[in-house]
Amino acid sequence: MQGSKKPRVLVLGANFAGLTTARFIREQCGGAVDITVIDRKSYLVFVPNIPIEVFANRDPQNSLHMPIEHVLHGDGSEFIQADVRAIDVENSQVDFVVTERPGAPVEHIQYDYLVVALGARLAYDQIEGFGEYGFTLSDTYYGNRFRRYLHEGGYKGGPIVIGSARFHQGSKGKPDWLPTALAACEGPPLEIALSMGAWLEDHSWGGPNKITLFTPAPVIAEDAGEEIVSKFLEMAGNMGYHYVNKTEDIRRLTKDGIEFANGTSLEAEVKLVLPDWKAHDFMKDLPIADEEGFVVTDLTMRSPDYPKIFAVGDAAALTVPKLGTLGDMQARIVAAQIAKDLGRLPAESAAEVFKPEVICMGDMGRDKAFYIHSDVWYGGKTSILKMGRMIFALKLAFKEMYYRTGGKPSRWGLPLTELLSEHVF
Ligand SMILES: Cc1cc2nc3c(=O)[nH]c(=O)nc-3n(C[C@H](O)[C@H](O)[C@H](O)COP(=O)(O)OP(=O)(O)OC[C@H]3O[C@@H](n4cnc5c(N)ncnc54)[C@H](O)[C@@H]3O)c2cc1C
Repeated sequence: MQGSKKPRVLVLGANFAGLTTARFIREQCGGAVDITVIDRKSYLVFVPNIPIEVFANRDPQNSLHMPIEHVLHGDGSEFIQADVRAIDVENSQVDFVVTERPGAPVEHIQYDYLVVALGARLAYDQIEGFGEYGFTLSDTYYGNRFRRYLHEGGYKGGPIVIGSARFHQGSKGKPDWLPTALAACEGPPLEIALSMGAWLEDHSWGGPNKITLFTPAPVIAEDAGEEIVSKFLEMAGNMGYHYVNKTEDIRRLTKDGIEFANGTSLEAEVKLVLPDWKAHDFMKDLPIADEEGFVVTDLTMRSPDYPKIFAVGDAAALTVPKLGTLGDMQARIVAAQIAKDLGRLPAESAAEVFKPEVICMGDMGRDKAFYIHSDVWYGGKTSILKMGRMIFALKLAFKEMYYRTGGKPSRWGLPLTELLSEHVF
């Protein structure tokens, strides 16, 4: 690849946002570009299905790691398994250290176009007591740890708390229509609470009344819009769930419970928490980033000051809440923008801009799931909530399609899911 005259597109990160973007860029640009993708691991983690696997007593490490090297090589793209250490936006250069074996030196790679898809750092290390007393379901290691606790005799029947730490969203370059979120992504606590309640009943441990849902915000999952959240809270209250809001942040976890920044605390045997989504340390002072380290972009996901740099997925400042479906929308936009720049696509075919909508399918236990489609939080009027077995089947089907297409869901994938969820089931 060195010495090639083709422009090099460098994609940093190869989970949902990065893999899909790299694959769409290849589709749109054909052989007109060299594509190099860097990620510290050579597989994608299918994060949204971790709760399903854990409650069904399946190890998510076995079922939710999708190898990516052969997919990228099949596209004629290069993959480097490495840790990204620095981005030099003035000299169009990225520093990395390969991670196959320890001891590798820092190397540099130049780019013509850069796509930042590095996600975020899930800051469990900032929650005092998490290592000893915390549980979570945001990655397969922790998922498996909780699966063992539940299914191999760890749980003793005590109270359970489920909720999020405070998210710190940047303000630099934030458009007026984008609200400030106090939690990064609250679909997961909702789905974990619903699944956990069903699991307790099914295993004769009581039920939802053992569970308290908490949020740092005035209302949980406020990005789903008031109408949907009210329906959820009413349903959860009727089922016996407890709920506390305005906790401000998690102060610490102890053996016996959880303490919040607002001075309150709850007794709990099980502390299931989602942390702050923080940008990677080396992103913090970059001129492309806001004060929290998320990449500022316009609605074509392009840096206003560095037009050959794009950001997609959780790493982008516009991605709030931190939802994979938003990264999927952005991936298509970025591929079209680069194809347009390179003369592979007429300008009118690359006119799509980012128009966020919350689309989320969450597990509810007992082979049921909920589906939320809402843009009310961003000023729109769409507010749809559905629940049932067919939604659960669609959630599983989406994962199958994602695997079969190697992270390149067909253009009708998300629209078809919307159509079936909203008009058929
Ligand atoms: C329990 C749970 C359930 C969820 N359910 C849903 C859902 O139903 N629907 C939905 O839309 N979203 C859901 N989400 C959110 C979704 O998982 C994220 O929005 C999505 O994973 C973001 O994708 P991404 O590619 O931007 O970032 P990530 O998935 O975080 O990927 C970033 C990639 O960058 C790599 N990387 C990071 N730093 C470096 C570095 N320095 N060097 C090299 N590589 C690096 C990582 O290895 C990783 O592969 C859920 C999240 C959780 C925790």
